[in-house]
Amino acid sequence: MMPIVDLALRSQTILIVDDTPANLRVLVDYLEQMGFNVLTAQDGEEALTRAQFMLPELILLDVMMTGMDGFETCRRMKAIASIADIPVIFMTAMTSTTSKIEGFDVGGVDYITKPFQIEEVFARIHTQLRVRAIHQQLSRQNTLLQETITQRERLSERMRVASLVYQNSGEGMLVSDTALLTVATNPAFSRITGYSFEEVEGKASGLFSKESRESAQYARMLEALRAVGYWDGEIWSQRKNGETYAKWMVVNTLKNADGTLQGYVTLFSDITDKKRSEDVIWKQANFDELTGLPNRRMFNARLQQEIRNHDRAGRSMALLFIDLDNFKEINDTLGHAAGDLLLLETGHRLSALTRSSDIVARLGGDEFVVVLTQIGKAHSTERISQEIIGQLTQPYTLGQDTAYISASIGISLYSHNLTDAAQLLNNADQAMYLAKQNGGNCFHYFTPVLQEAALHRRGLINELRSALLTNQFLLHFQPIVEMASGRIHKAEALVRWRHPERGILGPIEFIPVAEETGLIIELGDWIFKEAVRWTRCWADRRPGGLQVSINISPLQLQNEDHQQEQEWLAYLKDIGLSGSNVVLEITEGLLLGENSKIAEKLRRYRTAGVQMAIDDFGTGYSSLSYLKKLDIDYLKIDKSFISNLATDTNDRAISTAIIVMAHKLGLKVIAEGVETVEQKDFLIAAGCDYAQGYWYSRPLLPEQFEQLLDQDVIMQ
Ligand code: C2E
Ligand code: MG
Ligand code: MG
Repeated sequence: MMPIVDLALRSQTILIVDDTPANLRVLVDYLEQMGFNVLTAQDGEEALTRAQFMLPELILLDVMMTGMDGFETCRRMKAIASIADIPVIFMTAMTSTTSKIEGFDVGGVDYITKPFQIEEVFARIHTQLRVRAIHQQLSRQNTLLQETITQRERLSERMRVASLVYQNSGEGMLVSDTALLTVATNPAFSRITGYSFEEVEGKASGLFSKESRESAQYARMLEALRAVGYWDGEIWSQRKNGETYAKWMVVNTLKNADGTLQGYVTLFSDITDKKRSEDVIWKQANFDELTGLPNRRMFNARLQQEIRNHDRAGRSMALLFIDLDNFKEINDTLGHAAGDLLLLETGHRLSALTRSSDIVARLGGDEFVVVLTQIGKAHSTERISQEIIGQLTQPYTLGQDTAYISASIGISLYSHNLTDAAQLLNNADQAMYLAKQNGGNCFHYFTPVLQEAALHRRGLINELRSALLTNQFLLHFQPIVEMASGRIHKAEALVRWRHPERGILGPIEFIPVAEETGLIIELGDWIFKEAVRWTRCWADRRPGGLQVSINISPLQLQNEDHQQEQEWLAYLKDIGLSGSNVVLEITEGLLLGENSKIAEKLRRYRTAGVQMAIDDFGTGYSSLSYLKKLDIDYLKIDKSFISNLATDTNDRAISTAIIVMAHKLGLKVIAEGVETVEQKDFLIAAGCDYAQGYWYSRPLLPEQFEQLLDQDVIMQ
């Protein structure tokens, strides 16, 4: 009868080792029939290899084998870790107890005695396999147990750390129940909010005031907690002492093991300082510190936004570029503090004239922009521009002083083929220049012609730079004749540009651009030295010496240091001329501000013997008494008065008056632009000291002027 085999034990692998396997045929067949996998090996060595390779669940090992016997084979198996656990049952014909004991000693678990009793064999195999199965299960359980223990330990360690964090965290924590009533708080909670745990326990307050619990944000938070179990965001609240503070808050849901809601845990940190400094940084980056108006950066962003809106709404829009006229003089004469006050007040006036939907910004210096975002008709832009001009010409009270300024406005209109914010601004800027050229205190629209002019100007700037480097400038000299003797006493140096494509260009074409770009400093330096160099060549040919008259642009006297004067005076000395060989021609405008720095510069030149002439006299506003104070030597009557001397009695009167008064003040007079004999005769009769003009000579190349000097003709 076949014994019942435990199902779990079937299909287990059994290795049978015997050097005469034929003996075991019966055993092999029997075990295979019962469902075991049976392997065989013919000696100890083979048994060791197969066991390691196949890892059987049980080994039946013959004791008496040729070569390595069963005991030795077993001993060696037990020494190999991967197979040491496999139970070994010895098969033997011996029955002596001592030899059996030896078998147990080397690690065997049982004996089967030959000849086999098949049921006994089965019973022993079965028992050993069961024991092994139980053993394995126990060891698995043991491992599991070990794992559970370590997990527990880890968990409790985590909880210990969590509690430490909870107690010492800089972040406030609050645990609440399902109704959001407070269950626990940590010390940081109390530190930040000012409330102790006792004060908030079981209450809904602490993190949310009553009002904030009625806010839309609070409703959104509840909704998020319900939907996704998580919410974070920024909230402004009040501390117990009433102070408002900003916090960054994260709310998480707590779940029971069965997944039901247990409550909420809220973490929050005080971000008030951070927010404040962010706010300050944001303000600094986007607003003008002085006026509080948006700065260039903010303005650009808002203009772009406005353009996007306009594309949608299809409304009209105008950009006004406002530049104060002669603002620099306010700074120079009344000081920077007064200048600041004036800018501040200008910002107020502009804001007051515009709607809240308009943009008012300060781009820097004395440049403001206004964007009228909802203009109906073009004339409303003009009306507002006119109002702005009107308001800005109202007197400014700056501390003790009262100041007057005016403004120039350039207008560019938004249109659908012009949607670039930068271009819109640029166009208005150019239109503003035209308003300035028209004398300021007015507005001007941007036109395509302006565009052309602007391009031209840009080209000119670049050319001007390279012209300086490649020596394209030259000087002409125009004789200045002493009227009484008819002899050449002086010459005015007049700069020309030998343009590679456009030929000789007069100063009117490029001096303004040179002034605007600051290149005048470098160019002026070259002019001075070139003029002085030529004068050196001619000085000895005149018994009384020769004076050169050099035009100086206001900009050349406006830098703070005295380097230029020192350098020029040193240059004069090096070349062997004295200060008295030079007259500097300055314009009335320069004296208007009574800038002490400029007066100081002029004084230094004068000390070195250099003389001063006021050019184009009569066109500006300077008073004669002023000229005296500043130690001016010559007045050059502007050619606009001279040209009408024959016909205009008014101009005659003015010219005569200038000559008489100048003489009273000890100044000499030079008449500019004398073209006719009538003009010359009138001036001689009026007592004018010197004259210059086409009647005598046009401006000449240096070589030509030299010839004229050598001829020493009397010019009358
Ligand atoms: P300005 O200093 O008043 O120079 C006199 C201008 O009148 C010169 O024009 C001269 O050529 C012109 N002129 C002389 N006689 C007559 C005349 O009889 N009739 C008429 N209609 N014009 C006459 P230019 O050379 O074109 O210079 C124009 C202005 O450019 C000068 O006016 C001066 O303000 C400026 N400029 C000339 N050279 C320089 C320079 O080297 N540096 C600076 N900063 N400005 C200069
Ligand atoms: Mg001049
Ligand atoms: Mg002049």
